[in-house]
Amino acid sequence: MRPGVVMKFGGTSVGSPQALARVVAHVTRETRRPLVVVSAVGGVTDLLLEAACRARSAEAHDEQVAEIARRHHAIVEAFDLGREIIAELEQELSRLLQGVSMLRELTPRIQDMVVSIGERISARLVAGAVEHSGQPARAHDAWDLGLCTDEQHGRAEPLERSADSIREALDRLEQGTIPIVTGFIAHSAKGEITTLGRGGSDFSAALFGVAAQVEEIQIWTDVPGIMRADPKVVQGPQVIPAMHFDEAAELAFFGARVLHPRTVEPARRAGVPVRVLGTFHVDPTDPTPISRQGTLIDDRAAAEPVRGMAIHRGVQTLHIHSLGMLEAPGFLARVFEVLARRRISVDVVATSEVSVSMTLDSNGEQLDAAIAELRAFAEVQQVPDRSILCIVGAGLRKDSAILARIFQILADNHVPVRVISQGASRINITLVTDPPFASTAMAALYRAFFRGQAPGSNPSESMGA
Ligand code: ADP
Ligand code: ASP
Ligand code: MG
Repeated sequence: MRPGVVMKFGGTSVGSPQALARVVAHVTRETRRPLVVVSAVGGVTDLLLEAACRARSAEAHDEQVAEIARRHHAIVEAFDLGREIIAELEQELSRLLQGVSMLRELTPRIQDMVVSIGERISARLVAGAVEHSGQPARAHDAWDLGLCTDEQHGRAEPLERSADSIREALDRLEQGTIPIVTGFIAHSAKGEITTLGRGGSDFSAALFGVAAQVEEIQIWTDVPGIMRADPKVVQGPQVIPAMHFDEAAELAFFGARVLHPRTVEPARRAGVPVRVLGTFHVDPTDPTPISRQGTLIDDRAAAEPVRGMAIHRGVQTLHIHSLGMLEAPGFLARVFEVLARRRISVDVVATSEVSVSMTLDSNGEQLDAAIAELRAFAEVQQVPDRSILCIVGAGLRKDSAILARIFQILADNHVPVRVISQGASRINITLVTDPPFASTAMAALYRAFFRGQAPGSNPSESMGA
């Protein structure tokens, strides 16, 4: 069976019997042969990790295990599923934790085995709930549907042949039975369990959707779509009705948790649109078509001056200064060689004649060692806790008056800007600031660009500039 649409449901969407009833309504209403991808029941991945860490230090972890069981059993009972559908996985979990506790060792490989239990149980619960509604459904572990990765436990990369093996597996599926697949997890070539990184079920959805060339990859979550600002900073921000792949990639990368950053790239390359929808916001009985709801991400969205913003907190900043940099070819190459060798990735960079500032995603030993090496040929100042505010909008490319307006608003609100960078595509501007000011800046920019408009209306009309 080749699915026509992928529907991915996050942890909150499958987090309680009430939420799951909603998921069942959305899935059974979809007539385009859905393939459903699910995350673990809300909170379960964190609990599994906590239990595993406690087991490693031989601390009691019964509380975590009991809480996991409580969340799952509430669903088992509400849909009359019978505990046996998850009993085997529960036993597997208890054996794994026993092993960790005996050996006092938790390797990334074992950790992946432990956390995989969350998605594997969830897929069985969701399949059971869909069947309970009278629609045939079947749970699949992602590896049985061909998803294979390298062996980097905790942040595995899909193998190139994965798309072919997914297509072959999908072609063997029975027509008329809805496949419910585990997100987040896969197998390595050796057949060991791997995971795609926290929040990785979105990425799984993209991998299945692209392999099957579906009409649309739907990411169903607990907010009504991608919003113009972080809902924890701005109250009730507007939902972005449509945006370009590149804009969504920048926002996801710089902290809008709603989409896993690796979701967009495969979809963009394959030209498969992604739609972000609210499980609790779309009314399954409302005849409004899905095509008019949530946020549509594709390559056709009309440009807006500012599309949206995101904050990425707790980033490391390095300021590297050297007079030797002046007209010295190779200085930057030397800096980046040190960072690359230590596998430290750089997110935002700004350079002048004699200094370079950058934000990094690394902490700990490798960073300390890199700084020691850099100090051999430059002055290095390290600031551990800064925030990145990312503003995206294809319109930024065209109109420098918008940049002027942004900086005026920041100045009016006394926001200290430490680093400014505009990527080569110039659809985003990234500012590094001190933690409390990121929220101040986001709120002020939101007021200036979007307040007073009807949700989803075109901000350019109120821009003035
Ligand atoms: P799921 O469990 O469905 O994968 P996540 O918690 O990973 O959901 O992502 C959804 C959350 O992302 C929202 O609850 C919201 O708090 C957060 N978020 C941050 N920035 C944005 C944004 N710009 N638009 C929408 N949600 C955002
Ligand atoms: N359950 C995993 C996590 O919490 C994957 C996901 O939700 O996408 O990170
Ligand atoms: Mg998520």
